[in-house]
Amino acid sequence: MGMKLKLDDEHGRLAALGRYDILDTAIEEEFEQIVQLVQQVFGMPMAAVTLVDADRQWFKARRGLGVAETPRSMAFCHHTIAAADGLAVEDAANDPRFADSPLVVGDPNIRSYLGAPLRTPDGYQVGALCIIGKESRRFSITDREILQRFSDVVVSQMELRQMASTDSLTGLLTRRAFDQAMFDALARGTSSAVLLIDIDHFKQINDRLGHAVGDEVLRAVTATIEAAGPFGAVGRVGGEEFGVLLPGGDGAPAIAEAVRQAVAAMAVPGQPGLAVTVSIGLSMAGAGETTECWMKRADDALYAAKRGGRDRVCAG
Ligand code: GH3
Ligand code: MG
Ligand code: MG
Repeated sequence: MGMKLKLDDEHGRLAALGRYDILDTAIEEEFEQIVQLVQQVFGMPMAAVTLVDADRQWFKARRGLGVAETPRSMAFCHHTIAAADGLAVEDAANDPRFADSPLVVGDPNIRSYLGAPLRTPDGYQVGALCIIGKESRRFSITDREILQRFSDVVVSQMELRQMASTDSLTGLLTRRAFDQAMFDALARGTSSAVLLIDIDHFKQINDRLGHAVGDEVLRAVTATIEAAGPFGAVGRVGGEEFGVLLPGGDGAPAIAEAVRQAVAAMAVPGQPGLAVTVSIGLSMAGAGETTECWMKRADDALYAAKRGGRDRVCAG
């Protein structure tokens, strides 16, 4: 593959895994399909996509396995990600590394295992695609190669998933990913607030100074919003519109006001004297409300802030 493996950089490996924002997320059909495919191709009772976190392995997709995660110390895949070419275990009961493992002695009574590392484009092994059997089995070189190809497909899918949720200009969440964060906050049932932050007269900035300066303003507003955090989630939800999720919702009006003031006071790199302001709509999540309703109330509040003269916060 040409990339240099980084097997001895656990800190960097965990950071690489973290960038995918994938741990503890819901089932996704693309990963289910790959796991089902390798299970069928190899005729094995168990298969999984596992991600190796600091002290656990968490299954993004699994078939034939009962638990959602295991301690890392138990995980076969812990050994897979430490090796340059994966791990094949013909008979775990007769392998001194695994014979005493609770996963071998007890449920699910693993005997054979083949794991291909999930290698990121920057060379970190963040997890594995593995197939597991209850009987001993010898794996060929071809078996290992085929599983590695499938493992590379899993990483491609992780990359696509990440691209779809990250705005390339600002690095913030996309609209779609931000909506999902609001949905998750509602599902948790704890109170939360959302801020909708829209740049005032942004079209004039573009028209007067050009699109490139407009982009610079978008990045400057992004940095100013992020500096006021940390927040539950920050997204670019429209061309010149941002969303901020405040879990708990405490002090939301004061935080919104602080963001408004920070933008009004910020300097745009290379544009001394360019004044930028934002209008902000704020709404608290209502019990049993849909994401759309919650967002609509923030949008109505934003509209009120615009009509009221801009550079202000309105709650709805
Ligand atoms: P208001 O105060 O009412 O919000 O006025 P506005 O000019 O900010 O709002 P309007 O919706 O009329 O214009 C938004 C502009 O944002 C139009 C669009 O060309 C520009 N825009 C959208 N995405 C980008 C981008 O990625 N880069 C730049 N430079 N401009 C963008
Ligand atoms: Mg605007
Ligand atoms: Mg707008």
